[in-house]
Amino acid sequence: VFIGRTNPYLGRFGFDHHPVAKPGFRARAAANRRYGRIGGIAMSVKTYRRKRNFKITSEPRGKRGRKSGGSKPQFVIQKHDASRLHYDFRLELDGTLKSWAVPKGPSLDPRRKALAVQVEDHPIEYGDFEGVIPKGQYGGGTVLLWDRGTWQPLHDPAEGYARGKLHFVLHGRKLRGQWSLVRMSGKSGGGGKNWLLMKLNDKYARKTRDVLTNAPRSVKSKRTLQVIASERADTPIAGVNLTHPDKLMFGPERFTKRDLAEYYESVKRWMLPHVVDRPLALRRCPDGVEGQCFIQRNWNKTLPSTVGKVDVGKGKKHEEHVAVHDLSGVISLVQIGVLEVHTWNCRSENIERPDQLVFDLDPGPGLPWRRVIEGARMLHRALESLKLPAFLKTSGGKGLHLTIPIVPNIDWDSAKSFCRTIAHSLAEKSDVFVVNMRKDLREGKIYLDYNRNDRSATAVAPYSTRARPGAAVSMPISWNELGKVKSADQFRLPAVRGYLAERKKDPWADFERSRIDLRKVPQAKFEA
Ligand code: ATP
Ligand code: MN
Repeated sequence: VFIGRTNPYLGRFGFDHHPVAKPGFRARAAANRRYGRIGGIAMSVKTYRRKRNFKITSEPRGKRGRKSGGSKPQFVIQKHDASRLHYDFRLELDGTLKSWAVPKGPSLDPRRKALAVQVEDHPIEYGDFEGVIPKGQYGGGTVLLWDRGTWQPLHDPAEGYARGKLHFVLHGRKLRGQWSLVRMSGKSGGGGKNWLLMKLNDKYARKTRDVLTNAPRSVKSKRTLQVIASERADTPIAGVNLTHPDKLMFGPERFTKRDLAEYYESVKRWMLPHVVDRPLALRRCPDGVEGQCFIQRNWNKTLPSTVGKVDVGKGKKHEEHVAVHDLSGVISLVQIGVLEVHTWNCRSENIERPDQLVFDLDPGPGLPWRRVIEGARMLHRALESLKLPAFLKTSGGKGLHLTIPIVPNIDWDSAKSFCRTIAHSLAEKSDVFVVNMRKDLREGKIYLDYNRNDRSATAVAPYSTRARPGAAVSMPISWNELGKVKSADQFRLPAVRGYLAERKKDPWADFERSRIDLRKVPQAKFEA
């Protein structure tokens, strides 16, 4: 631990950097006076807010004096790769997060005392923050939620805090047992800002295990710092100017419009082939998932210029529906508040010839998830017996979708009647499927919906978010993976980004080369 007359860490990490204050004692003293931080005590969320531009950063603005919700106060440790890597240690006290920057991070070894430099209080909501703070902004860099849980003071915490001696138990995922945080006095005290964080000797103490290197991942998203950083995109994205980038589209998940744009940026290579140049139906939720949503199919000239159109009119009639051509189109959909992208089963250039078939498995009430898996496998086997490829995805809602890429050389009626035959035959052979639309027949069964293969019918696009609570996405999965999937809405933002970053293979990689010519499939060979 460095203990000196002036603290060399101050102003050099990005955690205690004031926009006008240069590193150095005088400037720091001036900044401290300005923000009323003499002695490091009289701080508030006001200082936090003053330092940040919430039009640019996606960090929460925060409310004052909020409780975190639970009855026990929370603690949070954020790994912050700013101008220098450090760990931010935060304890909920008195409606805010008391915060310390710990350059070397906490240690489980009671012999090691870690310097903890007190910084401004952070709002309670900050405890959930993870992501990229834009360059040039205060604390610019990457933040990873390294540990969180509750803390239990072993004495009156307000009094201990005022005296500069906190003794407490951490109940975190990585840090547990007794700890203390003690304010240094005298020359090494840094004007009351320098504290020491240390592990006390108990059964959670470890002299050899370095918890920082052994458990580097986020407890929120399982991502590494590198993954979080690599997913950053420049502000507005693919040439699209995002207005209100910090608008919360998924409130409970704190997922902003910018986050959504970054998510689509990160999945573009897998998603775009299934979305571009098709008629679309969009679920728009301008005020986020909790606000009013509406479906839009028709193109109009108020849409951004990167959102194109496709004429889906029959015969001489014209009817212009929305379509996108590239990533900038998808990002523009984010810009206009789209939370669900649905596609027709044909490409814009060939409206009368479907190029894929979709079976929508809708589990009725009371049906256990394992039966949904069994049903999907049964349908898969039936399709395989016809040598039909079937690509699988979760709907992001309740069920599963099977998509079959076909050569676009048959009309809609033929496509639908082909699917109808398969669905009816399965429903006859297995009592898990029903094909009747009547809702009262679905109890304990899967409604096998082949009507998704009508001309203007849609299915939600792979990787699209759903405008439902939980921020799930429709996720392509392999047939091998299906057994491990626990529900149709298990792939959720933001955690899904970590999952995708580590996924070895795109389960739909062979989609395009698997197209099947249905005119060559003899239906007689069909077996359920
Ligand atoms: P779940 O797994 O919960 O059933 P889902 O996406 O399959 O989710 P469904 O209600 O089964 O939802 O509908 C299947 C598809 O049909 C949807 O993905 C969507 O494209 C389309 N769809 C259904 N209802 C509507 C609607 N009211 N407006 C527009 N499209 C719809
Ligand atoms: Mn469905």
